Amino acid sequence: MTNRQSHAIVLKVTAHGEADKIVTLYSPDLGRITAIAKGANRSKKRFVNKLEPFTFLQILYRPPTRGSLFFLSEAELVNAYLSLRTTYSRYVTATFINELIQRFSGEQDPDPAVFALLGWAFHSLDQGKFPAKTATLFLLRLLGLCGYQPQLSHCSSCRRPLEQSPNFTLYPGNGTLLCTHCRSTRSDSSLTLSLQTLKFLHSAQHMELQQLDRLQLPAATTSQALGALYNYSRYLLQQDIHSWKQLKQVTGTQV
Ligand SMILES: [Zn+2]
Repeated sequence: MTNRQSHAIVLKVTAHGEADKIVTLYSPDLGRITAIAKGANRSKKRFVNKLEPFTFLQILYRPPTRGSLFFLSEAELVNAYLSLRTTYSRYVTATFINELIQRFSGEQDPDPAVFALLGWAFHSLDQGKFPAKTATLFLLRLLGLCGYQPQLSHCSSCRRPLEQSPNFTLYPGNGTLLCTHCRSTRSDSSLTLSLQTLKFLHSAQHMELQQLDRLQLPAATTSQALGALYNYSRYLLQQDIHSWKQLKQVTGTQV
């Protein structure tokens, strides 16, 4: 079978025996795939410094003949995003982003918009953008692409607009808002969003990716948004994201 070509970002790499590596990739054409790189530990020319988490590659591959394991023939570096492996706060944020992609994407279910979002997030981190803001915007947009777009313009019960309640609670059951009048008194404060945070998130939902970096937001507001979106994601996935603990520490998120 002849080799095919695609772009891909490395999500995860594990050793396989003495010589091989198993690589989890996200490609705009293939979605999330797992591939074996035969002899990756020996072949300096084909794979050295390329099969590392967060690298953006051009790959030559062969699809599986049976099962789901692709065969990775060669990889060329498009962007190493080296600072994501050498700067701790960026590393933790990129790991969180990789983990979200792995949980929210289906195997071999490609979405070029998810790939573009992943590329935007790593580029922003590599350019030194504030990690908490990049993580927040990434998560917000990923939820939208996966069919879980939070509805952030009014109370879903009484339809009160944003300006008419001091804050709202994001209801994780369906990603809608409840105002102070409609929510129960025992509602979870980790899902509370201020008017400023909501306006920021609502506008960020509809912007071009390249414009997102221009959005300005105080650190405390970013932290509130990230906490609420994370809790909504955890509800959807019904499991924790392992790297959340480290991300909370490096971003100072209070949830
Ligand atoms: Zn209401």
